Amino acid sequence: MALDLSSIRPPGGKRSTKRDRILNVFLRQEGHVSADELVALVHRDAPGVGRATVYRTLQWMVGAGLARKVDFGEGRFRFEPSYRHPRHFHLVCNVCHRSSEFLSSDVESLMEEIAAARQFTPTQSVVQIFGTCEECRTGRKTPSLDGSTTALVFARDALRMAIATERSGLDFYTRAAKLTSDARGRAVFQKLAAEEKEHLSTLQKRYTQLAAQDPNLESRPTFLFFKGAASGLFAAGAEQLRKGVDDQQALLIGIRCERGSHQFFKRYGERFEDSEGKQIFLEFADEERTHLDLLIREYRELRERQSRGRSR
Ligand SMILES: [Zn+2]
Ligand SMILES: [Zn+2]
Repeated sequence: MALDLSSIRPPGGKRSTKRDRILNVFLRQEGHVSADELVALVHRDAPGVGRATVYRTLQWMVGAGLARKVDFGEGRFRFEPSYRHPRHFHLVCNVCHRSSEFLSSDVESLMEEIAAARQFTPTQSVVQIFGTCEECRTGRKTPSLDGSTTALVFARDALRMAIATERSGLDFYTRAAKLTSDARGRAVFQKLAAEEKEHLSTLQKRYTQLAAQDPNLESRPTFLFFKGAASGLFAAGAEQLRKGVDDQQALLIGIRCERGSHQFFKRYGERFEDSEGKQIFLEFADEERTHLDLLIREYRELRERQSRGRSR
């Protein structure tokens, strides 16, 4: 990862080549290192750097939000990069001692709910699942998911969710355009279908660019776990259309879907730490907001046209 160190050095932090060197080694490593492992890695590059300096630098990195301390029950801490790396949970293998990462906003919400119900102010929540990994159990080599790949896989999963939502949105608007009898209303649905189609191809292009950064990206394990994804909203909306609705009802269903989708991506996107995955969520939330506004405007105008029609 190319990193501009001056942008992450805390204000007033003094320039230190040793510190930058240690930081660079740390950010280059895969997954989760212990302090002693980091000392060994640093010594490969710079044998003159003392153990105490590495320890002190690790403490500074934790304080500056560049590293996170994790405890895998081994009797010592490990450290992982946190700069542009989303907060996550771990699966830890008792056999090979490797860890794999996952994130679930469902789990996070539940923990927050529990803490709030108990009037508890949480400072840190840790979820660790211990057991045997697939590779140790079956002997089959599988593409891994660790500290160095998480940011990319997070972006992959965020894009997959946005693409799935866009696809079901496209299906919804295509169907709505077909069954709307009001000419203006039909034009709006057609416009939205065209927009969803265009945005879908933009998202797919972005996905291809992402995949070019890692030949194993497709086959890496799932990182993001969501129970209630937004694509279900449009699928349910399309189902309602099939039952037969009038123009006004079709617009109202569209409004409900876009609002739900916007809220979903915004609410979750805001919880994530700075990362490409977060950006994808928030950009998509904005997109849905635009569609929502358009539908609301159209709904009002349709109501006006109908009431003018009646008074004539
Ligand atoms: Zn294992
Ligand atoms: Zn981790």
